[in-house]
Amino acid sequence: MMEYQRELDVAIAAVQKAAGLCTKVQKTLVGVEAIEKKDRSPVTIADLGSQALICADIGSAFPETAIVGEEDAEMLRANEAVSSQVYDLVKEFHVEMSRDDMLSAIDAGACEADFTGRYWTVDPIDGTKGFLRGEQYAIALALVEDGEVVLGILGCPNYALGGATAGTLFYAVKGRGAFARDSATGESRKISVDGLSDPSKARFCESVEAAHASHDEHAMISAQLGITQEPYRIDSQAKYASVACGAASLYLRLPRSKEYREKIWDHAAGAIVVSEAGGRVSDFSGKPLDFSLGRKLVDNQGILATNGCLHDRTLEVIAEVV
Ligand code: AMP
Ligand code: MG
Repeated sequence: MMEYQRELDVAIAAVQKAAGLCTKVQKTLVGVEAIEKKDRSPVTIADLGSQALICADIGSAFPETAIVGEEDAEMLRANEAVSSQVYDLVKEFHVEMSRDDMLSAIDAGACEADFTGRYWTVDPIDGTKGFLRGEQYAIALALVEDGEVVLGILGCPNYALGGATAGTLFYAVKGRGAFARDSATGESRKISVDGLSDPSKARFCESVEAAHASHDEHAMISAQLGITQEPYRIDSQAKYASVACGAASLYLRLPRSKEYREKIWDHAAGAIVVSEAGGRVSDFSGKPLDFSLGRKLVDNQGILATNGCLHDRTLEVIAEVV
């Protein structure tokens, strides 16, 4: 059996289940409250339900391994009405879960972890803004060992690669390549980055949300590279998926504030999908992303994911422009 096969099977099944829950909620968005978090990004019922499903499945299959997630159950413990809404949904996808099990599963994601060892990291809905707009979002789950991502999954329920009708799930295991699985048929195929080395033919992707990345600085980099196409704006780690399957040649992400440090769960799964598809991922200075330092990528600033061919040239331009 391939190394990490069991981890991959359990993780794909968990993400598929969470994708089912999220899809259901996104279809009935009217009436779902987006609850304001301290950082003002909306947390939805689906966010917590998705984390509950993933942490429950991963936690029971791999009880020794910590799970680092974006959410905790504090708000649910204080809010009976929302808690019931989340529980009713979760039960549809995981019939035997009690309400206490659900709260503990969500809280598992907020536990302490040894970031230098082996841990899972989950973003139950990456791209909440896209989710609420009815657009792209991703359920992101990754396994990290010794600071390096060894397995990554991006469930993208609205990503219609090759006409997939129920979305696409992207996955990669270290040394094994990257794959896109049609969620309707369950069929997987190997994906790879494009081979473009001429920037004038390339397209780059960036956040839809101007608050999440500096569109102005991206435009300067892109102009200096000689890129002529308009930026491809797409929410969530679907940006990494786009680079991995050749829908874009680069992903630029420079936070607007120099103090902002990226969260591990916003990048772990996407980064391995791109590198296993033949691309390259680094920060804006060319350093690899270091996932061993805690919940944030404290040692990295700016994210650059490319098809590989354009990586060094883009780093040169970044050094001149930024
Ligand atoms: P995206 O869909 O690529 O725009 O990114 C969504 C992610 O951006 C969320 O998961 C947040 O963790 C992250 N985020 C929130 N605020 C900021 C910020 N000020 N700068 C960069 N990323 C942010
Ligand atoms: Mg996120």
